Amino acid sequence: MHEFSIASAVVATAVKHADGRRVTVVSLRLGALRQVVPDALAFAFEICARETLCEGARLEWEELPARVRCAPCDRVSTLARLPLRCPACGGGDVAVVGGEELEVESIEVEEGAACTV
Ligand SMILES: [Zn+2]
Repeated sequence: MHEFSIASAVVATAVKHADGRRVTVVSLRLGALRQVVPDALAFAFEICARETLCEGARLEWEELPARVRCAPCDRVSTLARLPLRCPACGGGDVAVVGGEELEVESIEVEEGAACTV
């Protein structure tokens, strides 16, 4: 399942940046074109986070819309839905310039956790 491979990569990234501290929140930037099912991702994250520093962390994401640049009219448009077409001229000769993001934007760690060792 698509969401599990994303979730395990997210957990790995968060754990690396947590540097031994407990993670409380993981924030993602998620492009609409990734076609991730949010509930499935949240579920996969919970499973993948077990027995890691991310266990029990909350997953948050900002969904970024699909954006295309139209070659004939050189206009960048935000698309509410597929297919990928230029809303201005209706042409299909477009390049995707946004919506494929999939990255950990930030993590929050438990305050003071690093001091208790
Ligand atoms: Zn156009």
